[in-house]
Amino acid sequence: MMNFHILTLFPEMVLEGLNTSIIGRAAERGYISIEAVNIRDYTLDKHGKVDDYTYGGGAGMLMQAQPVYDAYMAVQSRIKTNSARVIYVTPQGRTFHQELAKELAREEDLIFLCGHYEGIDERVLEEIVTDEISIGDYVLTGGELPAMVMVDAIARLVPGVLHNTDSAVTESFYDGLLEYPQYSRPEIWHDKRVPQVLLSGDHAKVDAWRLEQSVLRTKERRPDLYEAYAEKRCGEIRNKKK
Ligand code: SAM
Repeated sequence: MMNFHILTLFPEMVLEGLNTSIIGRAAERGYISIEAVNIRDYTLDKHGKVDDYTYGGGAGMLMQAQPVYDAYMAVQSRIKTNSARVIYVTPQGRTFHQELAKELAREEDLIFLCGHYEGIDERVLEEIVTDEISIGDYVLTGGELPAMVMVDAIARLVPGVLHNTDSAVTESFYDGLLEYPQYSRPEIWHDKRVPQVLLSGDHAKVDAWRLEQSVLRTKERRPDLYEAYAEKRCGEIRNKKK
């Protein structure tokens, strides 16, 4: 069981996005839990304000430290994991990828912090955040979509969430390669035939074809991944010879 705690100003957006399809069903069945904590509920401001102007001037408002800190403390005080990892989703963080998703899927509790407006007062980030992670080199209006992207990618690696555990193992990035092309019925569509080997019933041949296609596709579409894969394979062959 893995528990996601998302600190946000827009809990309904996060919950609506994540409570559907495979992730929603996984939550219903108890493999994961997803709670969205409204940072605004923790402000001490009598008008419910959570943001203010930035010192030194500049455009836009900044989320203040106090409501973010109190929302975090409320979550931390009622979960089992002592000092759970706290992920601030930010374009300034390291870029999210499948290996990181695998690493994070081993945690019992994960706390996500979503910024909005110009971001969040640096002092509270220094106190509570353990990881700063970006979903890519572009700027979004808020951290809700990045948190949803990451929760989805992590949750599907939690045992039981996908019915067929094989599907996560054969998918793109799992072993550093992109996935091979796939086909479903009918055998001929728009004069295009399904590759004969896939109809042969010979599993060894099918596996060999798929690996070959994965390697070719990765080489063509993602030369950076291919280079890393080729280097790893060379290392394995060298080690075998020793
Ligand atoms: N002023 C910030 C900067 O230049 O780094 C950008 C603030 S952005 C408009 C508001 C919030 O959206 C951020 O605090 C962050 O939580 C989220 N965000 C925006 N782009 C993101 C990205 N690429 N990855 C992760 N989070 C992002």
